Amino acid sequence: MADRKKKTFSFVIVGGGIAGVTCVEQLSSQIPSADVALITASPYIKTVTNYKQVSKTLEEFDVAERPFSVLVEKFPNITVIHSAVISLHTQSHSLETADGRIFSYEKLCICSGGRPKLLTWDNPYVLGIRDTDSAQELQKQLSTAKRIIVVGNGGIALELAYEVEGCEVIWAVKDKAIGNTFFDAGAAQFLIPSLEVEKTIRAAPCKRPRYTTEDPEPGASQTFTADKNAQRHGSGPIEAGSALGPDWHDGIVLRGAEQVSRRVSLEYQCEVEKIFTSAELLNSPQQTPENEGSWPIYIKLTNGKTFGCDFVVSATGVVPNVEPFLHDNNFALADDGGLQVDDHMMTSEPDVYAAGDVCTACWVHSALWQQMRLWTQARQMGWYAGRCMAANVLSESIELDFCFELFSHITKFFNYKVVLLGKFNGQGLGPDHELLLRCTKGQEYVKVVLSGGRMVGAVLIGETDLEETFENLILNQMDLTPYGEELLNPNIDIEDYFD
Ligand code: FAD
Repeated sequence: MADRKKKTFSFVIVGGGIAGVTCVEQLSSQIPSADVALITASPYIKTVTNYKQVSKTLEEFDVAERPFSVLVEKFPNITVIHSAVISLHTQSHSLETADGRIFSYEKLCICSGGRPKLLTWDNPYVLGIRDTDSAQELQKQLSTAKRIIVVGNGGIALELAYEVEGCEVIWAVKDKAIGNTFFDAGAAQFLIPSLEVEKTIRAAPCKRPRYTTEDPEPGASQTFTADKNAQRHGSGPIEAGSALGPDWHDGIVLRGAEQVSRRVSLEYQCEVEKIFTSAELLNSPQQTPENEGSWPIYIKLTNGKTFGCDFVVSATGVVPNVEPFLHDNNFALADDGGLQVDDHMMTSEPDVYAAGDVCTACWVHSALWQQMRLWTQARQMGWYAGRCMAANVLSESIELDFCFELFSHITKFFNYKVVLLGKFNGQGLGPDHELLLRCTKGQEYVKVVLSGGRMVGAVLIGETDLEETFENLILNQMDLTPYGEELLNPNIDIEDYFD
């Protein structure tokens, strides 16, 4: 390595996802003369478009895949290098790429994202979704599929269960309710009827044909079929690419080989115990008349049931993409495998920063914020890391950004707007909190989390128009005890009330 010619940059950022691109843009705006290199394994970069600050902490934006030239035209100081980093030498401040080049840095920011936690890596019938290529592979395989099994309970599994049509979906979740990462069992029950309606009208929220708040039994199954008789809507490969974003399935036809609209069966509180090929199944005691035969892959769940299918989507989360950077270095890693960063996005190695899915925020968090590996946090961390790197070389002081004061996220599930604020699931509060609920079938689900009479979190599903008022109430920590349940009285204009 010593004999090869090194190219030196003041700043090197690894990763062309939202964290890395936001970081180079921020650095380049603050120090336009700085020589900045963006090294990325993916052939495109991800850029934020239509950015909108919805309220003090809530933000909305679209994400677009763009060629490197877009970045270089806007910021001539940036050099984009298309190759994967294969090793990092923090002592000599240099890194090596897969095409044999060596780059030196004064300051480095690692934004290499995450990779899917697959059930198994060596089975062609087990797919993960992370980037455009893997989403296209899913589309291809789905086009001839009659039945798939989705394993996982995060955002990707939720989207798949809702979006796939023309193919039976068996959805195995380890929890008592769907969407456990984002909301509680009540919100899950509010959303579940959307799985029963035909997927034709997408603009308006779905009216719910049935409503139940009962928890499913452990290991219980639920089946939802959207057929012509169902109630109609009312008025109303992973490592190379960047992670897809909120609208990852737009432009991808998620349609199977059958003539049904949507058919989803849920298996609750279970995980995958074993994966079989059809040949293995023939010789195993799992074989029953129902699962005999003709599927290329079979899955035995911990609830004792075995299902055959065309393929399995393993949507059980991501692990931080740290491997190329660890060898011979001394990075402190968090329990979730992420690079630990402090309140200036610095890792434990000198002059090395990290942002986005690859890092774990290890500063003392505000009482109302938690890290979740989401699009918005990747942008916020990349932006803040860029500011911290610039402040460091300009010898300026910088304080933790306000966006880390309150957790806030806007997304869409089952075609409903979903806003999550603060400790929306009572995270870390123990039994010391109370909940206020308001639910209008097929329209809205509002949950407020109170601790000591103060609002500390909220889940808003539907067009509630409450996000800004609730955000203010959470931020100003006003004692709401005198208002009691009136807080969610639909006949009171709460915005006026607290004006
Ligand atoms: P990534 O976007 O993963 O970018 C990492 C970059 O690093 C890539 O460009 C990659 O090529 C590069 N890289 C990796 N290793 C190397 C290396 N060794 N050398 C050089 N370059 C390297 N979030 C939401 O908020 N809402 C959603 O609805 C949502 N839906 C999602 C749906 C899917 C299918 C997926 C996969 C994720 C979803 N997420 C969602 C999560 C969100 O996409 C991620 O949190 C976010 O993209 C992370 O950004 P990042 O920049 O940290 O990492």
